[in-house]
Amino acid sequence: MEVAEIIVYLDDHSVVSENGTWDLWLDFRTEHDLLLFIDALTKSQVIKPHDGIWGKKSEILSYVHLTGLYIKKRLIRGRYYALNVGTLSYARLDNEDETDISLLTFDCSQINSEIANYLLGEHLPLEPIDIGSVELGACREMLPNYHPDGPMRLLVADVGQANMNFLLDGDSPFFVFDLGAPINSSRCFIRQIISNYIDRITNPCTLVISHWDVDHYQCLRQMSTSEISQKFQQVVCTNQCKSLMSQRILEKLRLSLPGRVFCFNTSNRPAHSPYPALIPFYSDGFISLYIGEHSSNINICGINAFVCGNLFSVQFTGDCLLKQADDVLQNEYLKRRLQTDHILIVPHHGGKSSKVKVPLAYNTSSIANCNTSIISVGKHNGYGHPEHTVMSFIAGIFKHNIHLTSLYGDFTCNI
Ligand SMILES: [Zn+2]
Repeated sequence: MEVAEIIVYLDDHSVVSENGTWDLWLDFRTEHDLLLFIDALTKSQVIKPHDGIWGKKSEILSYVHLTGLYIKKRLIRGRYYALNVGTLSYARLDNEDETDISLLTFDCSQINSEIANYLLGEHLPLEPIDIGSVELGACREMLPNYHPDGPMRLLVADVGQANMNFLLDGDSPFFVFDLGAPINSSRCFIRQIISNYIDRITNPCTLVISHWDVDHYQCLRQMSTSEISQKFQQVVCTNQCKSLMSQRILEKLRLSLPGRVFCFNTSNRPAHSPYPALIPFYSDGFISLYIGEHSSNINICGINAFVCGNLFSVQFTGDCLLKQADDVLQNEYLKRRLQTDHILIVPHHGGKSSKVKVPLAYNTSSIANCNTSIISVGKHNGYGHPEHTVMSFIAGIFKHNIHLTSLYGDFTCNI
């Protein structure tokens, strides 16, 4: 009998520096892959089928966290792999893991490296699931024009190795860009972020999700449908939901806000372009939104928001390339003939995208206006963010006005 392939999505990996072993975070491509996985583990008696607990738990959680893995093979995050379940029979189920996202955690330190190399097969160039989306042209009526009564303010929340940014009208948020928490957060930490920041929302506001990585949307997992419909009026996102968790969250958003989730297709990318261009697709006077041309790397085909305040322009970037961020800045400065100073939320937590070879370049015409840069980053993160090459590049352009949330906490100012 032919065994069905179980396709997993490698959401994240980091090396544990002391001993050179890896931590992997796997999700599944579809609900079907998760069911096959539970079935295979139950049959091989790695997990016990008692109480139907796995069925219930797996309706909410889908991540498999592998720790202490000694693996020599090069793995690429954001790719699909065929999972070899048999190798997990050499691992030990770890019930002590306190991260909130894991369905199952395996301590893999007893798996020898030869066997570990078989855990994930060759990566598979599968397209994301078609989850339904609206076309870019359909967004004209998307967001109501908003006119702040009080002074418009920027708040970049310190949420560790993740992203959460707000525009405030006086004290009350009216625009939110990303709702992230670090992938290894405990439930208690996520609830703390929600009560510190999201509970400040008193009138339903607009939420933009830059792209479907957990560190940009994880708080939505802990919010109920009624909480979501109380806090948000509409949601703007892309349809690049490659992981099962992101598909489930999109579904939850659609249930919470029927007809008010605007999920956009990335547009086709011309052959031979060095990286996906960010295309303007919405402008309401003081906020412009851009979306990347298609890429298999969801970081670089997400959404950017550009905001023109009275004192500063502000750019929300998610995990795009610095070059893409600069293209948006150039476009806005030319189009709007801006005189104001500029605040950049530095893309990708100050990291470089190792998969895309685009030089760190800023066009000199805008540098005079570059005033402050903010890096949303966690202390001692396992990714080496921010990278020193990015830091010294940014320091030159922004005259050393760099705010690291890991050092200085929240950033807030009138714009
Ligand atoms: Zn990120």
